[in-house]
Amino acid sequence: MVALFFYLGVAHFPERGNEPEVEFDLQTDAIPSRDSIRQITKKINIMVTKTKIPLLKDHHSHPFLSALLSDCINLKDAQTKAEALSIMREAHKDEINIIVGWSNSWYSFEEHELDQLPPVIICNTSFHCFLINRATKEKLGTSHQEILTLMNDEKWVEKNLPKILKFIGSLKPYHPKQVKTFYRYLLQQGVWFAEEMLLPFEWVIPLFKELGYFDRTRFWADIEMFHSLSQEVQKDVYGIKVFTDGALGSKTAALKVPYSSGEKGVLVYSDEELRALINQVAEINKAVALHGIGDRAIAQIITVLNKINNEQGKIPPTRIEHGTLISRHEAQQAKALGITLSMQPNFSINSERYQDRLSEHYCRQINPFRMLIDDIGFVPGQDLVFGSDGMPFGVQTALEKALFPPLPSQVLTLDEFVKGYCMPDHKNGLLEVTIDEEKRRVSTEVKKVGYA
Ligand SMILES: [Zn+2]
Repeated sequence: MVALFFYLGVAHFPERGNEPEVEFDLQTDAIPSRDSIRQITKKINIMVTKTKIPLLKDHHSHPFLSALLSDCINLKDAQTKAEALSIMREAHKDEINIIVGWSNSWYSFEEHELDQLPPVIICNTSFHCFLINRATKEKLGTSHQEILTLMNDEKWVEKNLPKILKFIGSLKPYHPKQVKTFYRYLLQQGVWFAEEMLLPFEWVIPLFKELGYFDRTRFWADIEMFHSLSQEVQKDVYGIKVFTDGALGSKTAALKVPYSSGEKGVLVYSDEELRALINQVAEINKAVALHGIGDRAIAQIITVLNKINNEQGKIPPTRIEHGTLISRHEAQQAKALGITLSMQPNFSINSERYQDRLSEHYCRQINPFRMLIDDIGFVPGQDLVFGSDGMPFGVQTALEKALFPPLPSQVLTLDEFVKGYCMPDHKNGLLEVTIDEEKRRVSTEVKKVGYA
């Protein structure tokens, strides 16, 4: 019975009191087919559930950069390269156009194709890979030479991501209306609170305070940015963000077994460099958020933190951001070290999306929530928190991918979702969610925003 509910991911439903009598013989490791799951859900008559949950608390987001880039040309709906090129041909001729939403699992661009376009900087959806065309280089002239020459150097890009995002941000004129509009959009998507994982400019914090959004976010900054801030603004930074590898979208997440195309991804630091960096964070008494997606990066994070813990008897308050390919062994160690995992149910879909680049073994290892919760003992809301990374921002995809991911090992219950991904109460508003077990779909509606 337990196994049945585990696979269906419905153990949390209100009907739990009258658990139906269903026999389901599970072989070890056997995964029931969708058909058999459907048959059983039909029998137990829990196909559509309506319930209310609090608004989202997104633990990993980029509200400022997203607000700034929200009016950029977006390629998310351009399914073919021809479509994408024709959209970009219409871009402004006399300014640098930041293009977002490009997924390199659909198509890539040749240099000569880009050189026929107006000035563009194309950002991969992962924001770990960028294309700059000739017209942009001409427009920038002799400024930003370092970025222009090293943009194709993966390791440099991963190490200097905060600098690159700052550069991209600086090309876009800013207007306070953008932040207001963006937070309104977030609320329509069911999100009340969104942590800003990378502060791009010092003035953003006073701005958020002035506009009244400071209590709906929490700021992280890279160490260089942090040291450049005034003491007053430093106090408002919760912690330091460190990238230890890249992303699956740009094939730069550091893997132990190479991508199908042969690359192994990028480890940004040596163990020693990473140790020195985390020690610096400990000295300034801040928390640290270590971006680690690939198993090689996560293993390095654990090795280094173990070393620091052995030497000093403690580590700074630590989060691993993404932890997408965390193994059982690393998960055990992370738990023992008191690390919080900050993960994205949205990314469970990468088990299907990145079959073009990852082995079957890796595809099955993505977001192993059941292992983390059932076997290792991570507790949603305590040392396992959830966020979107803006891909996309809202509750609908987040909840649907949490309840109905590609793999049984990725299923979260509604209760786990609420504990790890929602505001503690309905004070700021609530969401009415309808869960259709048979169609494996979720629909959501934002209700009673701002009610006490
Ligand atoms: Zn992020």
